Amino acid sequence: YAFEPILINEVIKASLSLVSYQIEKSNINIIERLSSAIPPIMGNKQQLEQVIINLLLNARDALEGISSSIIEISTEMKCDRWSQEPVIMVNVSDNGCGIPDNIKNNIFNPFFTTKEKMRGTGLGLSVSLGIAQTHGGRIEVSSTLEKGSVFTLVLPLVNHSV
Ligand code: ADP
Ligand code: MG
Repeated sequence: YAFEPILINEVIKASLSLVSYQIEKSNINIIERLSSAIPPIMGNKQQLEQVIINLLLNARDALEGISSSIIEISTEMKCDRWSQEPVIMVNVSDNGCGIPDNIKNNIFNPFFTTKEKMRGTGLGLSVSLGIAQTHGGRIEVSSTLEKGSVFTLVLPLVNHSV
């Protein structure tokens, strides 16, 4: 993979321009809260775009049949509670169906899907997690059944693994 200096907010804008039409035609409102204080990181634009698109389309799927549906995408800089190092967090939240407790441990497994054949391959999250890890990061999930989910892509400012 070719890593180059990237601005995550720009990657998000590029991802949104690819899928916002698909999302908005399902009557979902997209809220963007991109912090202006995000420094560049070393990363692969195409791969990170793939992660963000996966998270956005999963949120869209989770909102099927729900009224006043909202997807919020935000960025923030934080001190990581594990490594104590600075990280960028990309949060994708939806007020959709949520994730049942009994499948929470499976959603990152390759080919795990709750969707009908042809709608989901079950590869989105496992590929996305692999990409996050290539960037020295991870994906966190917090979800409440029938309330919604937040997926957070955590990217360290400095990737010690490359
Ligand atoms: P796919 O989207 O093809 O099913 P993914 O790996 O992207 O595969 O997701 C795996 C599963 O995780 C989904 O089938 C769904 O059950 C669950 N999931 C992922 N994102 C969300 C979300 N935002 N809300 C509820 N469930 C989700
Ligand atoms: Mg998916």
